[in-house]
Amino acid sequence: MSFQDIKAQDKPIQILKGYIKHSRLTGSYLFTGEEGVGKKLVAKTLAKALNCEGQTLDSCDSCVPCLKIEKGQHPDIHIIEGSVSPGVNLEPGQRTAAQDSDSIKIEYIRQLQKDINLKPYEGKKKVFIIDNAHNLTAEAANALLKILEEPPGDSLIILLSAKPVLLFKTIISRCKTIKFYPLPRIELEEILKKDFHLDSNLAHYLAYSCEGRIGRALKLKDIDILREKNSIIDAFTLVRRSDSDRLSVENRNNVRAHLNILAGWFRDMYLIKIGAPYSELINLDRKEELLRLMHRYTFMDLYEIFNSFSSSLLYLEHNINVKLLLSNLREDISYGALYRK
Ligand SMILES: [Zn+2]
Repeated sequence: MSFQDIKAQDKPIQILKGYIKHSRLTGSYLFTGEEGVGKKLVAKTLAKALNCEGQTLDSCDSCVPCLKIEKGQHPDIHIIEGSVSPGVNLEPGQRTAAQDSDSIKIEYIRQLQKDINLKPYEGKKKVFIIDNAHNLTAEAANALLKILEEPPGDSLIILLSAKPVLLFKTIISRCKTIKFYPLPRIELEEILKKDFHLDSNLAHYLAYSCEGRIGRALKLKDIDILREKNSIIDAFTLVRRSDSDRLSVENRNNVRAHLNILAGWFRDMYLIKIGAPYSELINLDRKEELLRLMHRYTFMDLYEIFNSFSSSLLYLEHNINVKLLLSNLREDISYGALYRK
């Protein structure tokens, strides 16, 4: 994908193109922004633009360097990966044993140090992308500091992080920071419909559930996510009690996601009752059903249901038995009975 094809992040792209145009793209960069907003895509596209044989401010996506970079086969483009799930409340450099497998250890940085001092094998510029840079161990971060101070002119280092608060301040201060923001929901919905030709219900739901993160939306677009979402709502709200067993209870993150989907259903019920515009519904694909069911709930019913959801989400943090939690929630909602004619 070229800069021209990336439908989000106009501002970071303009800044980077400005640097290339004025030959000021030197040293080290830090791209910050939530997971799925497009940091890595822009970093890879930048690596292509810098090595492209056909274009000067973008990638052509058809020359040998562009194709090699796209496939991850270019010897001068290095991507160092970390995991996306470190503890958010840790101090910089502080980590637990459980997170060790996620960390970017000093060996990676030692290798980077060797590679960065070699001439490019075949490209014009070597690019080192360190993904999830907040996962650098203290030792690795210290080693990297020295390299960030004076990277060779034919090299570029790009750190990516959704949690820059976990990075050492000394690392941040040696990089030019470029901030990436999620797209406004309506804008993402339009892009998904216009440029990716998604059905309007699907585009609407993805724009809502991905909170403006286009990368996440594009990852989910080929999964039948509407059916998945609806089966969670149905599993919990249809008459037969055993159906709720279909909700996966093994993974607490799944349960949390499922509870949020269910809470969205009742939120929509509330919005439709107060006459909010349909465009504000998360479950726009089930608008007719919501219109039909809204009379079965008083505002007080919905108020109690919301309370029940917030306490369930809170209990979930405290290791309560998940099956019991779901069963209690179902009792509170008494929704099965409401579905009976
Ligand atoms: Zn090219």
